[in-house]
Amino acid sequence: LFVTFEGGDGVGKTTQSTLLEEWLRGAGHSVVRTREPGGTEVGVLIRDIVLHHRGEVAPRAEALLYAADRAHHIESLVRPALARGEVVIQDRYLDSSVAYQGAGRVLGRDEVRDLSLWATGGLLPDLTVLLDLDPAAARARLDADDKPFDRLESERETFHARVRDEFLSLAAAEPDRFLVLDASRPAHDLAGDIRTRVRALLDL
Ligand code: C5P
Ligand code: MG
Repeated sequence: LFVTFEGGDGVGKTTQSTLLEEWLRGAGHSVVRTREPGGTEVGVLIRDIVLHHRGEVAPRAEALLYAADRAHHIESLVRPALARGEVVIQDRYLDSSVAYQGAGRVLGRDEVRDLSLWATGGLLPDLTVLLDLDPAAARARLDADDKPFDRLESERETFHARVRDEFLSLAAAEPDRFLVLDASRPAHDLAGDIRTRVRALLDL
């Protein structure tokens, strides 16, 4: 089972990934917890380029770096885990690229999606949990937790508004794959909704 978490910075992807992982492990499942960019050794190098040399990297090059990270990550880590029958819980996947590079950087949604599908051999998650939150609320949350809001600070509100809108339209286009949750709700309630959906998928 391949589950991805999507949404902007500060929406609670890490918290919900952890709660899901703990619950699945408690139920006896083998779980691989990973993320993009940076889920592999090679990926950590790519993550350093895209996050610490931002602004220097041309938008198309940035999109290709995310795709390269993804191609390597999926082939070397995710597909083998799925083949072993394990549950993969992943923080960000191709929908992030469509939202950030496609809509945010205006490279074109279809092109960026096609690039990702080529990079991964067409692997789509069984479930994508979209944690939806107003960017201003997400930023306030990161502030309150004393966490840096690198992207949120360095980019204008319109960028994050485009990213959020794109996530929502991706979810609307694939309602069977997506579970869209209002991320302003209590973490425990959200976790319950996610478990209900995952339980149904595991019982199939
Ligand atoms: O979620 P994580 O903290 O790993 O993301 C790091 C940063 O990379 C975030 O600020 C996010 O905005 C950005 N990002 C991006 N394009 C992606 C994935 C992440 O711009 N495809
Ligand atoms: Mg996070």
